[in-house]
Amino acid sequence: MALRLHNTLTKKVEEFVSRDAGKAALYVCGLTVYDHAHLGHMRAAIVFDVLRRYLEWKGLQVTHVQNFTDVDDRIIQRAQNEGVPFDEVTEKYITEYRQALEALNVLPPHVEPRASRHIPDMIEMIARLVEQGYAYYAEGDVYFDVTKRPGYGKLSGRVLEDLRAGARVEPGEFKRHPADFALWKRAKPGEPNWESPWGRGRPGWHIECSAMSLKYLGMGFDIHGGGDDLIFPHHENEIAQSESYTGKEPFARYWIHNAMVMVRGEKMSKSLHNYFAVMDALRVYPADAIRYALVSVHYRKPIEVDEERFADAARAVERLRVALTAVDAVMASVKVRDGSGQPSGKLVGAVQRARSAFESTMDDDLNTAGALAAIFELVAEMNRAADEVQKGQIPAALAQIGLSMARAMFLELTGLLGLAFKSAPIDHEVQQKVLRIAQAFRSTAVHSNTETLISNLLDVRERARASKDFSTADQIRKLLAEAGIIVEDLPTGPRWRVVSAAGSRAPSGGGDG
Ligand SMILES: [Zn+2]
Repeated sequence: MALRLHNTLTKKVEEFVSRDAGKAALYVCGLTVYDHAHLGHMRAAIVFDVLRRYLEWKGLQVTHVQNFTDVDDRIIQRAQNEGVPFDEVTEKYITEYRQALEALNVLPPHVEPRASRHIPDMIEMIARLVEQGYAYYAEGDVYFDVTKRPGYGKLSGRVLEDLRAGARVEPGEFKRHPADFALWKRAKPGEPNWESPWGRGRPGWHIECSAMSLKYLGMGFDIHGGGDDLIFPHHENEIAQSESYTGKEPFARYWIHNAMVMVRGEKMSKSLHNYFAVMDALRVYPADAIRYALVSVHYRKPIEVDEERFADAARAVERLRVALTAVDAVMASVKVRDGSGQPSGKLVGAVQRARSAFESTMDDDLNTAGALAAIFELVAEMNRAADEVQKGQIPAALAQIGLSMARAMFLELTGLLGLAFKSAPIDHEVQQKVLRIAQAFRSTAVHSNTETLISNLLDVRERARASKDFSTADQIRKLLAEAGIIVEDLPTGPRWRVVSAAGSRAPSGGGDG
């Protein structure tokens, strides 16, 4: 089956055919690093992370380039306001952004170029554009002349005449046409600046992405991505200057844009002060729940975020996790894995159906909402089979082959959406409480990690129950509950999970005794 993607350039859903067979070159506009990243930025990161994972799953060797815009008016403003060096601001927010991406299980791009380290590449481009007559010098600035570029507006559908009426020229700008844009800006006092043929100054924003994408991916690369708020003017201008510079078309073959994250009907943005910083969201919701919420809506539809959406997502992730744990419990209860069991026909069918439903829906312009539905169909079969084993209707040994196939498919498909099912970290206070309980029961493993301590305590409890010492068994269960560890007894053995201090469930992967 072939992947089809909506191309903003043609306004159609088209079959994806890469420039080089077996490879895919992906450039995504990255963050301007002047403030905390918010959920709007994370949606873009996650959409293109899913696209990358999916292309790789389809067998393509992906090169993913995502820049940092670390030369920008807003960064300069921030550094001046805070009285700190320019790169102190950028380093701080680059580090924070990377932490957020790691927490949300976003694969790091292969190349993360910074604008400030590619100034010579930009100067080279601008010089050629001036030479070719596409750009002109005016009072220390260099502008791109949009009237020289036939087809300007082809991405965004803008028309030059309308732009003349709509645009306004700021004081101190010397543009010939109001839609002309700066390739180079003369230095102002106190701003970072570089030497150039036009005097000291710094590049404009649009040329940064052209220079860095062409440098790492070459002309005619496969996918250029970003939020749909970048279509105009940023991406329109990238096309104009890159195609003028190289004299070739297209600059990028497919333009993929994700819709915005909305809060009460308005775009989440710094300027509207209606944003959730990612690090704040991560303190309230498990990473998988945030990720789930952001992939539960098709990437070209705006997504409204509120507490309810994240709470729903957290419940959905919990249902997935419970299914996985139930299957793990069955697998753990099979003492000898001799492979003699017959795979359940129902499960094998469900695994095949899930894979094919997942692929056909993802092939249809990356329909992640449909992909989740395919996963839940598989989960229903996993639950049913695990339930039958727990009720003693079929022996675990018989179900194990089908369940292990289902488990592997479940992890493969959820992994493509970037769900990690990592154990929630056990906070220090809970760790200390568990340690005290372990000491009280003279656990020999008091130097072990908390997971091992809990596992040992559950062993002590099992032995107590086996020798009919129910008061000791109950006491261990009660003390663990007080410490925030809930123990559930399943036919296949006890299972535990952490209940977070806030009362919201932050389940752990858990042992199964
Ligand atoms: Zn860009």
